[in-house]
Amino acid sequence: MKCSVCNETIPEGKGKMFVKNNGRIFYFDKSKCENNFKMGREIKKLKWARVKETVEKPAPKTKK
Ligand SMILES: [Zn+2]
Repeated sequence: MKCSVCNETIPEGKGKMFVKNNGRIFYFDKSKCENNFKMGREIKKLKWARVKETVEKPAPKTKK
């Protein structure tokens, strides 16, 4: 399966699945993608998703 945000292939057993109440299923390879999705950003407009990151930085905790 592929990440619904950045379109990266998610290894089996990794990532998260998210089911919307309308029945659509989304997959996320990392919490960054999940957070962006839940913030309601438009997937196509995400620029960072196209940049291959070699170093994973811990996502800063965002307040509501
Ligand atoms: Zn992703």
